[in-house]
Amino acid sequence: MDAIRDVLDDARAREVMLSADEAAQMAASHMASEQASSIKVVYNLTGTILHTNLGRAILAEEAVEAADKVMRNAIALEYDITGGGRGERDDIVRDLLCRLTGAEDATLVNNNAAAVLLTLNTLAAGRSVIVSRGELIEIGGAFRMPDIMASAGAKLVEVGTTNRTHYRDYENAINAETGALLKVHTSNYRIEGFTKSVSANDLSTLAAEHNIPLVDDLGSGTLIGLSQFGLPDEPTVSKALSAGADLVTFSGDKLLGGPQAGFIVGRRDLIANINKNPMKRAMRVDKIRLAAIEATLRLYQDPERLIARLPTYRALSRNIDDIKACAGRLAPKVAAYLGAQFSVEVGACESQVGSGAAPTATLPSVGFVIRPACRQHEGQALQGLADALRSLPAPVIGRIKSQAFVLDLRCLEDEAGFLANLEQFTTKDGGVGRGAGPA
Ligand SMILES: *Cc1c(COP(=O)(O)O)cnc(C)c1O
Repeated sequence: MDAIRDVLDDARAREVMLSADEAAQMAASHMASEQASSIKVVYNLTGTILHTNLGRAILAEEAVEAADKVMRNAIALEYDITGGGRGERDDIVRDLLCRLTGAEDATLVNNNAAAVLLTLNTLAAGRSVIVSRGELIEIGGAFRMPDIMASAGAKLVEVGTTNRTHYRDYENAINAETGALLKVHTSNYRIEGFTKSVSANDLSTLAAEHNIPLVDDLGSGTLIGLSQFGLPDEPTVSKALSAGADLVTFSGDKLLGGPQAGFIVGRRDLIANINKNPMKRAMRVDKIRLAAIEATLRLYQDPERLIARLPTYRALSRNIDDIKACAGRLAPKVAAYLGAQFSVEVGACESQVGSGAAPTATLPSVGFVIRPACRQHEGQALQGLADALRSLPAPVIGRIKSQAFVLDLRCLEDEAGFLANLEQFTTKDGGVGRGAGPA
């Protein structure tokens, strides 16, 4: 009845007459679309591998299977199988995290924002935390270091300047109120030119002298080096720990390639305090994600297999000739689907990691460079194309660059699905682009 009312209201508003059959049919399709999930699977052809707005990391099959199994079954989540008593849910991944990072102890929460908030609240509520002015990051959304600091109940003490912070700046700011020294990885920007920052190594000496913990928020963090993919190295978690950080925080769904999570690794006594903080309970990870995290971390035990199994690293390491071959196979068919209104060329483009890792680095890639055949109303035609691709059953997300619509093929694995999806391509002005699709 609601659907029929909606259809009739809409018809009245548009002043059109509907037959009973037409109204019934429209109501039925209205209901069908209301039933459809509002979660849309999309093709991420933006060239940004870890796109925060598109859900960041795609999980490995192993992680998907592990999550599937725990969703269908009762599991020993907080239950000690040997003794039959109560156990700790973190135990499922603690040893693995320690082994992979060299940390003494480890714990995990909902995401890295929570990890930072919980760490600061535990170490420095009612006290102060010293941070360089060059590292007062905003990650996007509501994650701004000064705000997180305030939410944690800690007082932010900024030292140095935007481009230069010295050892003595930290040293002079330390007093009886100081709860922690914080180093923040400048995930999504670089300050270049006349710059100076204090290494974690030096900071750890200062922190130890004053018996104050040093926290290093790595953001993405990674367990393996990135130079093997032709990218500048991001700091690995084990390097940050061996440089002397007492605690290191990092994300689960950035370069680690797992589900959303935030890890805190480092000194056992500090982790114990964190685990006792009542806030921790409000940030805990559920069994589905714990299972997926464990399976993801296990892949790191076998570095040879890791790159092939983890979609994030598969995309990062994908050979350019392989992408080119994919583009060559698909181009004629895509051109046929889009029709004479558009020219589809195979061209060079540049991918990036995304989600605040190696922000200024790009990886050479290949994609479709699509231009309207008619130069008149070019901008409008490009926007129309972007809209039409976003209206597909599985929206295809690309980007507009230099008067062209670019689809980077680095992250496209399912070529057959991509083509089947394109069969539904129509532009708004009724121009069903395709003659009859590819022969
Ligand atoms: C991404 C990031 C965060 C937030 O991590 P989420 O997992 O998105 O909550 C915090 N700090 C830094 C430096 C980051 O790069």
